[in-house]
Amino acid sequence: MNRREFLKQAALVSAGMLFCGKVNAARSEYFITDDCTGCEQCYDVCPHQAINDEDVPLKIDQDYCSHCGRCYEICPVGAIVKR
Ligand code: SF4
Ligand code: SF4
Repeated sequence: MNRREFLKQAALVSAGMLFCGKVNAARSEYFITDDCTGCEQCYDVCPHQAINDEDVPLKIDQDYCSHCGRCYEICPVGAIVKR
């Protein structure tokens, strides 16, 4: 690889890292509010078992959440908010 090709590759890698950083920064976090009825539909669709159903309202463990939004989409009473 010559110097010109190397610089081109380096610029592409830098742009990619910048883009990924922006995507991560824009990623929403999901929270369950007191409007939760305990129906557990969010619990059933969560692909990472990130939702604790021991109490109502249920609780999302942010350490396991992948921010996919499935719980937010399925909640029948709009009890999940994203910030
Ligand atoms: S889907 Fe909504 S109402 Fe049902 S348990 Fe989850 S947050 Fe609560
Ligand atoms: S956003 Fe996705 S991973 Fe996070 S709690 Fe909801 S369903 Fe689970």
